[in-house]
Amino acid sequence: MTAHIIDGKSIALSVRQGLEPRVEALKTKGIIPGLTVVVVGDDPASAIYVRNKERASQKLGMNGTVLRLPESTTQQELLDIVRKLNADGSIHGILVQLPLPAHIDGQEILRAIDPDKDVDGFHAMNAGRLLNGERGFVACTPKGVMRLLETTGVDLNGKNAVVVGRSNIVGKPMALLLLQKNCTVTIAHSRTKNLADVTRAADILVVAVGRAGMITGDMVKPGAIVMDVGINRVDGKVMGDVDFESAKEVASYITPVPGGVGAMTIAMLMENTVEAAENYAGK
Ligand code: NDP
Repeated sequence: MTAHIIDGKSIALSVRQGLEPRVEALKTKGIIPGLTVVVVGDDPASAIYVRNKERASQKLGMNGTVLRLPESTTQQELLDIVRKLNADGSIHGILVQLPLPAHIDGQEILRAIDPDKDVDGFHAMNAGRLLNGERGFVACTPKGVMRLLETTGVDLNGKNAVVVGRSNIVGKPMALLLLQKNCTVTIAHSRTKNLADVTRAADILVVAVGRAGMITGDMVKPGAIVMDVGINRVDGKVMGDVDFESAKEVASYITPVPGGVGAMTIAMLMENTVEAAENYAGK
């Protein structure tokens, strides 16, 4: 079997096109959706993501800005900036790019963001809402994975889903979203024993680890849907956590890297920002 390749790029494009009339409708009310990305220091990987986010928001006619702060920015200075952005009515979405320099307490910064502007969905309030099944901003990457899964048309009810990785920004919210769709969810991580046995039981396998090609075809159940979240730079090439060549011979659907989950993440960020602006307009 050769898997269907899920074209994240074109699905993301259609999501962004679907947002255009919503942005236009806001503009007729005098509101331009505003997204501010705050970057501290000059992590080269972050620089690429940030540029993509800025471009995507500007392309949509939104007010996308980047605040670039020096590595030496203190906790207090960053908190003050976040509070200023919270109070600015022209800004509907605030995103503090991770990772932050080691001297900054990232959790305190994330907690300082107004949950109504937390378009990344990382604030404890939004994470808690997801846990409770309440409405709130959902982290963009797992939200994008769910959207890609939907495009397969496969009924998720009762499926065995395995999420490899348990970070707060991908693995945990991913598992909760799959649970909401009635999957039987297993979360695997670095202490998991016999990982291959666990992954081979997955009808839906989501991998978010950060190790190039660690999931090989022999670790995939025949006919499984494989969603590769990983972004790894190897010899100047971007690679996923899944060994695409061997896995695509076993899976029924698979996302490529690049052009899979990553493209959707930005589209979901745009969607969350438009939603934040709409919520603001409705206040
Ligand atoms: P983290 O480093 O925060 O988490 C990695 C997870 O992988 C941890 O839970 C860790 O387990 C687990 N892990 C590490 N080694 C193994 C192993 N050998 N076997 C099983 N599990 C293991 O990473 P993130 O969640 O932030 O990101 C994961 C990947 O996704 C990265 O490549 C990142 O670049 C990418 N990413 C892509 C995005 C996109 O837009 N496509 C967005 C965000 C991230 P433990 O908890 O036990 O340490």
